[in-house]
Amino acid sequence: MHCPFCGTHETKVSDSRLVAEGDQVRRRRQCLACGERFTTYETAELIMPRVIKGDGSRESFDEHKLRAGMMRALEKRPVSAEAIEAAIVRVRQTLRARGEREVAARIVGEAVMEQLRKLDQVAYIRFASVYRRFQDLDEFRAEIERLTGDLS
Ligand SMILES: [Zn+2]
Repeated sequence: MHCPFCGTHETKVSDSRLVAEGDQVRRRRQCLACGERFTTYETAELIMPRVIKGDGSRESFDEHKLRAGMMRALEKRPVSAEAIEAAIVRVRQTLRARGEREVAARIVGEAVMEQLRKLDQVAYIRFASVYRRFQDLDEFRAEIERLTGDLS
């Protein structure tokens, strides 16, 4: 593993532990040359289903896109990077667990919403309002009321 600061490949692992319910290994590393510390996450690479878009075209599952969408919703929210990574892992698990070679983009969106809902209500509303393009204000209000009900 090359040090991202100086490029040396002499780095040592100072701590290693399971995160995301055991589906990820988080390693703290330190560069032996420059002394900088950094973290790496290790996840098993499993084949993800392809995504069927609204217009019927297919594309490969794009984790960067998924992460970017979630990060946008979570901007300035009090959610740790680790909790976000764990949520991404769960989205992947949900999609793989379907056992299908292709999934509709809608299913991906629902899986993301499910996780955001558990992480942070504001992020969930942000994502859902863009994603579902709430038909009208009543629908949006109903969703807020449903969430408020969940909290009480
Ligand atoms: Zn270094």
